[in-house]
Amino acid sequence: MDTRLEPTRQTLIDKYVNESLLHLYELQKIDSQLDDLIESRGELPDRVQDMRRTVAEQRYNLEQIRKDIAEIDTRSKQLSDETVDLREKVDRYKAQQFDVKTTREYDAITFQLEDGQRRLHNNVESMGRMGVELEGMKIDEVQMTQDFAEVEAELAEAEAALGEVLAATQQDEKKLISRRNTLEKKIQPFHLTIYNRVRPAKNGVAVVAIKNGVCGGCYNAVPRQLALELRKGEKHTVCEYCGRIIVGEPIAIAVDGEPVAAPVAVAEED
Ligand SMILES: [Zn+2]
Repeated sequence: MDTRLEPTRQTLIDKYVNESLLHLYELQKIDSQLDDLIESRGELPDRVQDMRRTVAEQRYNLEQIRKDIAEIDTRSKQLSDETVDLREKVDRYKAQQFDVKTTREYDAITFQLEDGQRRLHNNVESMGRMGVELEGMKIDEVQMTQDFAEVEAELAEAEAALGEVLAATQQDEKKLISRRNTLEKKIQPFHLTIYNRVRPAKNGVAVVAIKNGVCGGCYNAVPRQLALELRKGEKHTVCEYCGRIIVGEPIAIAVDGEPVAAPVAVAEED
Protein backbone atom coordinates (compact mmCIF):
# COMPACT_ATOMS: atom_id res chain seq x y z
CA MET A 1 0.00 0.00 0.00
CA ASP A 2 2.43 2.64 -1.18
CA THR A 3 0.45 5.81 -1.52
CA ARG A 4 1.93 8.20 -4.04
CA LEU A 5 2.57 11.51 -2.44
CA GLU A 6 2.29 14.72 -4.32
CA PRO A 7 5.65 15.80 -5.86
CA THR A 8 6.48 18.72 -3.55
CA ARG A 9 6.02 16.79 -0.34
CA GLN A 10 7.67 13.75 -1.83
CA THR A 11 10.67 15.91 -2.71
CA LEU A 12 10.80 17.24 0.84
CA ILE A 13 10.65 13.78 2.32
CA ASP A 14 13.28 12.54 -0.10
CA LYS A 15 15.43 15.41 0.90
CA TYR A 16 14.99 15.27 4.65
CA VAL A 17 12.86 12.85 6.58
CA ASN A 18 13.54 9.18 6.14
CA GLU A 19 10.14 7.71 5.41
CA SER A 20 10.98 4.28 6.79
CA LEU A 21 12.05 5.85 10.09
CA LEU A 22 8.92 7.95 10.16
CA HIS A 23 6.77 4.83 9.80
CA LEU A 24 8.90 3.00 12.32
CA TYR A 25 8.24 5.73 14.87
CA GLU A 26 4.55 5.52 14.03
CA LEU A 27 4.65 1.74 14.41
CA GLN A 28 6.08 2.19 17.88
CA LYS A 29 3.16 4.41 18.78
CA ILE A 30 0.65 1.88 17.48
CA ASP A 31 2.36 -0.97 19.31
CA SER A 32 2.44 0.98 22.57
CA GLN A 33 -1.29 1.60 22.20
CA LEU A 34 -1.83 -2.11 21.58
CA ASP A 35 0.23 -2.94 24.67
CA ASP A 36 -1.88 -0.54 26.76
CA LEU A 37 -5.06 -2.01 25.37
CA ILE A 38 -4.07 -5.57 26.26
CA GLU A 39 -2.93 -4.42 29.68
CA SER A 40 -6.29 -2.72 30.22
CA ARG A 41 -7.95 -6.12 30.05
CA GLY A 42 -6.04 -6.94 33.20
CA GLU A 43 -5.89 -10.39 34.73
CA LEU A 44 -9.34 -11.32 33.49
CA PRO A 45 -8.37 -13.28 30.34
CA ASP A 46 -5.88 -15.39 32.32
CA ARG A 47 -8.30 -15.84 35.21
CA VAL A 48 -11.06 -17.05 32.89
CA GLN A 49 -8.59 -19.48 31.35
CA ASP A 50 -7.73 -20.91 34.78
CA MET A 51 -11.39 -21.15 35.76
CA ARG A 52 -12.27 -23.02 32.58
CA ARG A 53 -9.60 -25.55 33.46
CA THR A 54 -10.95 -25.94 37.00
CA VAL A 55 -14.52 -26.40 35.78
CA ALA A 56 -13.41 -29.07 33.29
CA GLU A 57 -11.49 -30.93 36.02
CA GLN A 58 -14.37 -30.83 38.45
CA ARG A 59 -16.85 -31.92 35.79
CA TYR A 60 -14.65 -34.92 35.05
CA ASN A 61 -14.30 -35.86 38.73
CA LEU A 62 -18.02 -35.55 39.25
CA GLU A 63 -18.79 -37.76 36.27
CA GLN A 64 -16.26 -40.25 37.59
CA ILE A 65 -17.74 -40.49 41.08
CA ARG A 66 -21.27 -40.77 39.66
CA LYS A 67 -20.13 -43.64 37.50
CA ASP A 68 -18.50 -45.34 40.50
CA ILE A 69 -21.63 -44.88 42.60
CA ALA A 70 -23.79 -46.40 39.86
CA GLU A 71 -21.40 -49.35 39.55
CA ILE A 72 -21.34 -50.11 43.26
CA ASP A 73 -25.09 -49.65 43.40
CA THR A 74 -25.58 -52.23 40.66
CA ARG A 75 -23.18 -54.68 42.32
CA SER A 76 -24.89 -54.17 45.64
CA LYS A 77 -28.30 -54.94 44.10
CA GLN A 78 -26.92 -58.08 42.49
CA LEU A 79 -25.57 -59.20 45.86
CA SER A 80 -28.91 -58.46 47.45
CA ASP A 81 -30.73 -60.65 44.90
CA GLU A 82 -28.17 -63.38 45.42
CA THR A 83 -28.68 -63.15 49.16
CA VAL A 84 -32.41 -63.71 48.80
CA ASP A 85 -31.70 -66.84 46.72
CA LEU A 86 -29.10 -68.08 49.17
CA ARG A 87 -31.45 -67.60 52.11
CA GLU A 88 -34.11 -69.67 50.37
CA LYS A 89 -31.56 -72.38 49.60
CA VAL A 90 -30.27 -72.43 53.17
CA ASP A 91 -33.84 -72.74 54.47
CA ARG A 92 -34.53 -75.54 52.00
CA TYR A 93 -31.37 -77.46 52.99
CA LYS A 94 -32.29 -77.08 56.63
CA ALA A 95 -35.72 -78.59 55.96
CA GLN A 96 -34.22 -81.37 53.85
CA GLN A 97 -31.86 -82.34 56.66
CA PHE A 98 -34.89 -83.81 58.48
CA ASP A 99 -36.07 -85.82 55.48
CA VAL A 100 -32.87 -87.71 54.72
CA LYS A 101 -32.79 -91.46 54.98
CA THR A 102 -29.07 -92.21 55.03
CA THR A 103 -25.97 -90.78 56.63
CA ARG A 104 -24.51 -90.14 53.18
CA GLU A 105 -27.52 -88.08 52.22
CA TYR A 106 -27.30 -86.24 55.51
CA ASP A 107 -23.61 -85.45 54.95
CA ALA A 108 -24.28 -84.24 51.41
CA ILE A 109 -27.06 -81.91 52.52
CA THR A 110 -25.00 -80.68 55.46
CA PHE A 111 -22.13 -79.90 53.12
CA GLN A 112 -24.42 -77.87 50.83
CA LEU A 113 -26.02 -76.16 53.79
CA GLU A 114 -22.67 -75.10 55.21
CA ASP A 115 -21.50 -73.91 51.81
CA GLY A 116 -24.69 -71.88 51.39
CA GLN A 117 -24.36 -70.41 54.86
CA ARG A 118 -20.75 -69.41 54.22
CA ARG A 119 -21.67 -67.70 50.97
CA LEU A 120 -24.59 -66.00 52.60
CA HIS A 121 -22.35 -64.71 55.37
CA ASN A 122 -19.81 -63.39 52.84
CA ASN A 123 -22.53 -61.70 50.83
CA VAL A 124 -23.98 -59.97 53.83
CA GLU A 125 -20.51 -58.77 54.85
CA SER A 126 -19.75 -57.45 51.34
CA MET A 127 -23.07 -55.66 51.22
CA GLY A 128 -22.32 -54.02 54.54
CA ARG A 129 -18.93 -52.81 53.29
CA MET A 130 -20.44 -51.54 50.06
CA GLY A 131 -23.17 -49.75 51.94
CA VAL A 132 -20.63 -47.83 54.01
CA GLU A 133 -18.54 -47.06 50.93
CA LEU A 134 -21.58 -45.96 48.98
CA GLU A 135 -22.75 -43.70 51.76
CA GLY A 136 -19.35 -41.94 51.86
CA MET A 137 -19.29 -41.55 48.11
CA LYS A 138 -22.79 -40.13 48.03
CA ILE A 139 -21.83 -37.53 50.64
CA ASP A 140 -18.78 -36.63 48.53
CA GLU A 141 -20.93 -36.45 45.43
CA VAL A 142 -23.33 -33.99 47.05
CA GLN A 143 -20.42 -31.75 48.12
CA MET A 144 -18.80 -32.00 44.70
CA THR A 145 -22.05 -31.15 42.95
CA GLN A 146 -22.40 -28.09 45.12
CA ASP A 147 -18.78 -27.01 44.52
CA PHE A 148 -19.16 -27.59 40.81
CA ALA A 149 -22.29 -25.44 40.62
CA GLU A 150 -20.38 -22.68 42.41
CA VAL A 151 -17.33 -22.67 40.13
CA GLU A 152 -19.59 -22.92 37.11
CA ALA A 153 -21.51 -19.85 38.23
CA GLU A 154 -18.24 -18.01 38.93
CA LEU A 155 -16.98 -18.88 35.48
CA ALA A 156 -20.18 -17.68 33.83
CA GLU A 157 -19.84 -14.40 35.69
CA ALA A 158 -16.17 -13.98 34.74
CA GLU A 159 -16.91 -14.87 31.13
CA ALA A 160 -19.62 -12.25 30.97
CA ALA A 161 -17.23 -9.66 32.41
CA LEU A 162 -14.55 -10.68 29.94
CA GLY A 163 -17.06 -10.43 27.11
CA GLU A 164 -17.76 -6.84 28.10
CA VAL A 165 -14.08 -5.96 28.36
CA LEU A 166 -13.38 -7.52 24.98
CA ALA A 167 -16.35 -5.86 23.33
CA ALA A 168 -15.10 -2.48 24.55
CA THR A 169 -11.61 -2.96 23.19
CA GLN A 170 -11.85 -5.39 20.30
CA GLN A 171 -12.87 -2.79 17.77
CA ASP A 172 -9.94 -0.57 18.69
CA GLU A 173 -7.62 -3.54 18.63
CA LYS A 174 -8.72 -4.45 15.10
CA LYS A 175 -8.13 -0.92 13.86
CA LEU A 176 -4.68 -0.76 15.45
CA ILE A 177 -3.66 -4.11 14.03
CA SER A 178 -4.83 -3.14 10.57
CA ARG A 179 -2.89 0.14 10.80
CA ARG A 180 0.12 -1.81 12.04
CA ASN A 181 0.01 -4.18 9.06
CA THR A 182 -0.09 -1.27 6.62
CA LEU A 183 2.82 0.45 8.33
CA GLU A 184 4.98 -2.62 8.52
CA LYS A 185 5.04 -2.91 4.73
CA LYS A 186 6.44 0.61 4.44
CA ILE A 187 9.37 0.05 6.77
CA GLN A 188 12.74 -1.16 5.60
CA PRO A 189 13.43 -4.72 6.78
CA PHE A 190 16.65 -3.48 8.32
CA HIS A 191 14.75 -1.07 10.59
CA LEU A 192 12.15 -3.68 11.46
CA THR A 193 14.80 -6.19 12.43
CA ILE A 194 16.35 -3.86 15.00
CA TYR A 195 12.91 -2.86 16.19
CA ASN A 196 11.77 -6.42 16.77
CA ARG A 197 14.98 -7.27 18.55
CA VAL A 198 15.05 -4.26 20.86
CA ARG A 199 11.34 -4.01 21.73
CA PRO A 200 10.99 -7.12 23.91
CA ALA A 201 14.16 -6.24 25.80
CA LYS A 202 13.08 -2.65 26.45
CA ASN A 203 9.64 -3.08 27.93
CA GLY A 204 7.96 -2.61 24.56
CA VAL A 205 9.66 0.65 23.66
CA ALA A 206 12.26 0.34 20.92
CA VAL A 207 11.97 3.70 19.18
CA VAL A 208 12.08 7.07 20.90
CA ALA A 209 12.57 10.64 19.78
CA ILE A 210 15.38 12.86 20.97
CA LYS A 211 14.05 15.37 23.49
CA ASN A 212 16.07 18.39 24.53
CA GLY A 213 19.22 16.61 23.50
CA VAL A 214 18.54 13.50 25.54
CA CYS A 215 17.34 10.02 24.65
CA GLY A 216 13.54 9.88 25.05
CA GLY A 217 13.88 6.39 26.52
CA CYS A 218 16.55 6.65 29.21
CA TYR A 219 17.13 10.43 29.35
CA ASN A 220 20.87 10.17 28.86
CA ALA A 221 22.47 12.81 26.72
CA VAL A 222 22.92 12.13 23.04
CA PRO A 223 26.40 13.19 21.87
CA ARG A 224 26.21 16.58 20.19
CA GLN A 225 27.40 15.40 16.82
CA LEU A 226 24.79 12.65 16.68
CA ALA A 227 22.07 15.03 17.89
CA LEU A 228 22.92 17.35 15.00
CA GLU A 229 22.67 14.50 12.57
CA LEU A 230 19.18 13.70 13.82
CA ARG A 231 18.00 17.24 13.10
CA LYS A 232 16.70 16.62 9.62
CA GLY A 233 15.08 13.33 10.37
CA GLU A 234 17.00 11.47 7.73
CA LYS A 235 19.03 9.34 10.07
CA HIS A 236 18.57 7.50 13.28
CA THR A 237 21.04 6.66 16.01
CA VAL A 238 21.16 3.95 18.59
CA CYS A 239 21.32 5.11 22.20
CA GLU A 240 24.64 4.08 23.66
CA TYR A 241 23.06 3.69 27.10
CA CYS A 242 19.74 1.91 26.55
CA GLY A 243 20.15 0.58 23.00
CA ARG A 244 16.91 2.11 21.74
CA ILE A 245 16.57 3.60 18.28
CA ILE A 246 16.53 7.40 18.53
CA VAL A 247 14.92 9.46 15.80
CA GLY A 248 15.08 13.21 15.26
CA GLU A 249 12.59 15.94 16.12
CA PRO A 250 11.04 16.30 12.66
CA ILE A 251 9.85 12.72 12.84
CA ALA A 252 8.37 13.16 16.31
CA ILE A 253 6.65 16.35 15.17
CA ALA A 254 5.30 14.69 12.03
CA VAL A 255 3.83 11.83 14.04
CA ASP A 256 2.97 13.35 17.43
CA GLY A 257 1.83 16.69 16.13
CA GLU A 258 3.62 19.34 18.13
CA PRO A 259 6.92 19.46 20.00
CA VAL A 260 6.81 18.68 23.68
CA ALA A 261 9.29 21.43 24.55
CA ALA A 262 11.57 23.51 22.43
CA PRO A 263 14.23 20.94 21.62
CA VAL A 264 16.09 22.99 19.02
CA ALA A 265 16.55 26.02 21.25
CA VAL A 266 17.82 23.97 24.19
CA ALA A 267 20.14 22.00 21.98
CA GLU A 268 21.64 25.22 20.65
CA GLU A 269 22.40 26.55 24.11
CA ASP A 270 24.95 23.81 24.69
ZN1 LIG B 1 18.59 5.73 25.80
